[in-house]
Amino acid sequence: MNLLKYLQEQGIDSRKGCQWLIRHDCVRINGELANDEKMPIVPEQVHSLHIDDEEAVVIPLPHYYILLNKPADYETSHKPRDYPSVFSLFPDQLRVGNLQAIGRLDADTTGVLLLTNDGQFNHRMTSPKHKVAKVYRVTLKHAADETLCAALKNGVLLHDENETVVAENAILHDPHTLILTLCEGKYHQVKRMVAAAGNRVAALHRERFGDWDTQDLAAGEWRFIQP
Ligand code: URA
Repeated sequence: MNLLKYLQEQGIDSRKGCQWLIRHDCVRINGELANDEKMPIVPEQVHSLHIDDEEAVVIPLPHYYILLNKPADYETSHKPRDYPSVFSLFPDQLRVGNLQAIGRLDADTTGVLLLTNDGQFNHRMTSPKHKVAKVYRVTLKHAADETLCAALKNGVLLHDENETVVAENAILHDPHTLILTLCEGKYHQVKRMVAAAGNRVAALHRERFGDWDTQDLAAGEWRFIQP
C-alpha cells in the first residue's frame, strides 16, 4: 500500500489531513522522512512512526489485540453515563477502527480488560463453550470460611435465573480475600454469585483472562498482545 493509505489506515487523520502532513514534511517512518504519498509501505516493516516529531502508535493492522489494566472509575462502554470511558485511555488513532471490549468490567472493577477489532476472537473468548478462565481477586465484606468456597463450587442460584452457576474454582486466601475462577461471563456474575452465597463483594480485581495478566502494567497502562 502507499504512504497516504497507510497513514489513513493508521488513524492519523483524514485523507486531506494526511496529504497535508506528508507535503509539509511532518511524517517520519523508521526515523526517515516520508514525503511522497505514493511511496510503497510494507506495514510489517514499520517499527516507528513520527508525526511532527511526536511518536504515534504503530497499529498492527488488520486485527489488533490490546491488554489494558483497567483502573477503577472507568466504564466499559463507548457511551458512558457516570464515568469516563475506558476507550478514552487510548490515543485517538485507536478510536477510528471498530475497537470493542471483550466482555465488560463494572466501573468499580479493576484489572485485565482485553479489547480487539477482531469479532471472531471476541466471540471465542466470551463464548461459554470455549471455557476461557477468568480469575478474580474478590475482597469480601464479611469474613468467610471454606463453606463459601464449597457453595460457589457446588453452584449457586442467581436472583432471576433458574439454572445454577458454578465456579470453576474458589480458594480462600484469607477470611476477606477469595480467588475465584469462572468460565462464563454473566452480567455482574461475581457480585451476584457471592451475594447468592451469603456474602458481599467489597472490591473486585480481575487478575487473569485466558493467558493474560496485568503484572507488567500499572493501572491505566496498556499494550498490544499477540493471541
Ligand atoms: N463480575 C462482576 O460482578 N463484575 C465485574 O466487573 C466482572 C465480573
